[in-house]
Amino acid sequence: MSKNTEQNTEKVQKFEYKAEMKQLLNIIIHSLYTHPEIFLRELISNSSDALNKIRYRALTDKNIIDPESELKISINFDKKSNVLSIEDTGIGMTEDDLINNLGTVARSGTLEFLKGIKDGKESVSEHIIGKFGVGFYSVFMVADEVSVETRYAEKDSKGYLWKSNGEGSYTVEEIDRKERGTKIHFNFKDSAKEFASEDRIKGIVTKYSNFADFPIFLGKEKINTVEALWRKNESEIEEKELNEFYKFITNDYEDPLAHVHLSVESTKANFKALIFIPKSAPYDFMRNQNVKALHLYSNRILIQRDCNDLLPEYLSFVKGVVDTSDLPLNVSREVTQSSNVMSEIRSVLTQKILIMLQRLANKENEKYLHFFKNFGPLFKTGVNHDFSNRDKIIELLRFESSSLKEGEFTSLKEYVSRMKGEQKEIYYISGDSRSIIDRNPNLEYFKKKGIEVLFLIDPIDVLIIPSVPEYDKKPIKSIEKADIDLMPEDKIDKPEDNLSKDLLSLFKSVLKDKVADVVPSKRLVESAVTLVSGKDSMDPQMEKLMKIMNKGMPLPPNVKILEVNTSHPLIGNLSKMYIADSSNPLLEKSILQLFESALLLEGNLPSNADFINRMIDLMKEATK
Ligand code: ADP
Repeated sequence: MSKNTEQNTEKVQKFEYKAEMKQLLNIIIHSLYTHPEIFLRELISNSSDALNKIRYRALTDKNIIDPESELKISINFDKKSNVLSIEDTGIGMTEDDLINNLGTVARSGTLEFLKGIKDGKESVSEHIIGKFGVGFYSVFMVADEVSVETRYAEKDSKGYLWKSNGEGSYTVEEIDRKERGTKIHFNFKDSAKEFASEDRIKGIVTKYSNFADFPIFLGKEKINTVEALWRKNESEIEEKELNEFYKFITNDYEDPLAHVHLSVESTKANFKALIFIPKSAPYDFMRNQNVKALHLYSNRILIQRDCNDLLPEYLSFVKGVVDTSDLPLNVSREVTQSSNVMSEIRSVLTQKILIMLQRLANKENEKYLHFFKNFGPLFKTGVNHDFSNRDKIIELLRFESSSLKEGEFTSLKEYVSRMKGEQKEIYYISGDSRSIIDRNPNLEYFKKKGIEVLFLIDPIDVLIIPSVPEYDKKPIKSIEKADIDLMPEDKIDKPEDNLSKDLLSLFKSVLKDKVADVVPSKRLVESAVTLVSGKDSMDPQMEKLMKIMNKGMPLPPNVKILEVNTSHPLIGNLSKMYIADSSNPLLEKSILQLFESALLLEGNLPSNADFINRMIDLMKEATK
């Protein structure tokens, strides 16, 4: 931001917005028109933050302006002059605050996101905008020019007036202001005339800000509830109130998917909590997992917004409030992090949330699946990170499978209940999508036998499942590994004829160190060959993931075992060809082509060109 040296008067300083800020303002003002009414929610939320800050500070510091003044938000609308003002007795802003806080965009990624909306890349559905606070600047949706009068709470502070038309620049000047806090005022612009009435303003406040921590007055009337909903008895809380409260703390437009109301009294910690699970995951969910909107209160007083320490990261989609009487009010972040009370709350809260999810899964499966589809990728990581609750999280995992229709899910428990008598192991296969998995030759045997195989389609699955060696005493195994325990009737080795033995040796001498071994297959039905991993090597999906994580750096080669279906007609033909003329060049070509087809199927073919040239040669022969 650059200070303009050619000022109109001595005292008024003029500042230019940075180019990025100008773009952002332009988008907010001209493209976000779906919900201009949220300007009021944003301003009240800023006032409420400022009031929380002064309340917190006043606990230890009485040397502030107006230490006894009531903590409140006053809204006034003057019909005649068409002026709306919102004033708080919060902490106020210094001159630097005004320049730094009202001149820049706080949230990183804001601009990209808003540009995405403008260019039609992000869909402008109500709830995206709702979740996405546009902050103070949303006021320019309803006003052409905005004034902010403010005075910081310290005794030697001065008053300032900030003014801007939200286009290119703003001004700051010193003013005479006695009271601590901030007052924002403006005229409604013509396109926002619909808001210019007390009834409408009251409606908006109660819709979005009913549960603010401080009283909100419109004229002389107090118009919000100011009650700690979580302190009421469960039976006294109406669903409507719960939903409103949830929307208030999250800015979500949708009702929550589920909630739990807790009142915990133990020797280690006492607390009440109102906890929610949202319906949909935010657009940047897996990139940005900081806990948002899980607030920590001490005896009804907010002591930490967005408190990361209340829950493990894998549950960071959870919203709500936790209120305890066991933490001192003026406790610092570091103290809360290391306190026993805090770790007790965290542990109890985690368990209660897992119980709630399990209950949801038992009683309202559809809702649970909705949750799992939205938050599963993060939630699953708990298997690797929360050892004490690992078993409970494993019960809550869901997978698609070969016995279910696309889009249907099973738990491990349900899988086990469907296992046939002789089946001793739980099987899975991983892949990018159901249709790719369905075509994998390694699935053929299991399909023929009607043995269910779990489909690991979410990329996170291959990081989770290999660390769960068994469930209900049954080993969990990838069907792409060599050591699967086949059904008893298939264990008896077929007497191997010399013919196919010789052919397999030829495979080995052609493929050399490209394969770890070449063996007759027990699992193939329709395909001629397939690749499987040795029992201690990586499965293909894991390998792919490692490649991505290694950012293209070469990995040690993961050499596989080639299984050959000796009853396949093509293999039969090759045997005959081998007997007739063991040096026929078509033999080598066919073997290489078979091997590379298997590589192609698992997405590991090194050179398309070689593969295609060889295919054309073979076609030439076949069409001779
Ligand atoms: P956010 O609230 O997401 O940080 P805003 O654009 O709404 O973004 O506000 C920017 C900053 O301006 C706030 O973080 C706060 O520091 C300051 N601010 C805004 N309104 C007030 C107010 N009423 N009292 C004190 N500070 C305020």
